[in-house]
Amino acid sequence: MKKIPLMNLTRQYERISEELNSAVINTLASGQYILGDELVNFERDFARYCGKKYAIGVGNGTDALTIALKASGVSAGHEVITSAMSFFATAEAIAGIGAVPVFVDCTSDTYTIDVMQIQGAITQKTKAILPVHLYGQCADMDAINAIAEKHNLIVIEDAAQAAGAEYKGKKAGALGDMGCFSLFPTKNLGCAGDGGIIVTDDESLYRKCRAYRVHGSGTDGLFTYNELQGNCGKCGGVEFYGNMPKYYNFVLGHNSRLDTLQAAILNVKLKYLDKWNNERRMLAAKYRNGINTSKVVTPYCADYNRHIYYVYTVLSEERDALREYLGKKGVSSGVYFPVPLHLQKVFEKLGYQKGDMPNAEILANQGLAIPMFAELTEAEAEYIINTVNNYENM
Ligand SMILES: *Cc1c(COP(=O)(O)O)cnc(C)c1O
Repeated sequence: MKKIPLMNLTRQYERISEELNSAVINTLASGQYILGDELVNFERDFARYCGKKYAIGVGNGTDALTIALKASGVSAGHEVITSAMSFFATAEAIAGIGAVPVFVDCTSDTYTIDVMQIQGAITQKTKAILPVHLYGQCADMDAINAIAEKHNLIVIEDAAQAAGAEYKGKKAGALGDMGCFSLFPTKNLGCAGDGGIIVTDDESLYRKCRAYRVHGSGTDGLFTYNELQGNCGKCGGVEFYGNMPKYYNFVLGHNSRLDTLQAAILNVKLKYLDKWNNERRMLAAKYRNGINTSKVVTPYCADYNRHIYYVYTVLSEERDALREYLGKKGVSSGVYFPVPLHLQKVFEKLGYQKGDMPNAEILANQGLAIPMFAELTEAEAEYIINTVNNYENM
């Protein structure tokens, strides 16, 4: 058997290549490349998919988090509580706007933020909670929202790994004040380059996100300015030369739009998201039922969650040996992520120590992702299960 990849985007492309090709060619021919109709359609359909009123397409998932935080009024000196186990961008977005990431351990079973530890991390400076739906499984949002309500905090979901996942029947991204997604190619819903999107029900947050993605300009920029000044409603006083509000800047923003070309690709792929997520779930069920060696613990899914297995991470005390063995047998594997956020060098000034977040550290040391994508064949799945089960410590 040929080496089995961890993920394979070519196989995905081949399933729908005709549709994708024509979407790309039509967009090229349209001459509309920035904020075009395909983007407007994708924002409408993705918002609807999540059960939210508004969506704002941005340049990538990191910018989605940054812009959502800024729109929510998080700024220098504020603290944002998040999980110690995530991709770096979660903490980078917080620190990047001058706020302080405050890390809380993940639970030992779902690997999402341990809600029991959030309360103790709240201070006078806390402004928001940023749970991460790690690997495609939602954090315990009811508990998080209850704490947020009690302390008047904003809840921003990092749903970058969870497009289409559900918590108690509601979609990831639709569970807090704002939901942020990455549309990076390998994510469950991915484009052919960088992309991101924010969803919300709040019109004011929506308008602010729209302002921040285009240099804080235009009527949405003016709206944002007025809100920040506390004189909402008094939007008069600005006359736009030649009806060109886009050259009037009111707040410092970003140049971060989701490309029209990427939106055209996403409009094709969104139709398949549920199908592909179901195929991932079927593969996960096969793994759960098939893997029976005591050397490996398969992932747990809380009964209120619909997990969409962005990655399938098993735990093994012999992770590195297992990884080497699998590699020799032609099975690719990955580690998400070898360094938990509180131990990243860039955050050394925050003063965390090894041992502070035991569950995140176990995941970093013992977690191993095995191949997970919708197009993995039956024969490959069998081979992977048998190979894992035949693992012996050498
Ligand atoms: C991928 C990812 C991001 C960042 O998304 P980009 O599109 O790569 O900027 C943020 N958070 C998590 C949990 C991710 O997995």
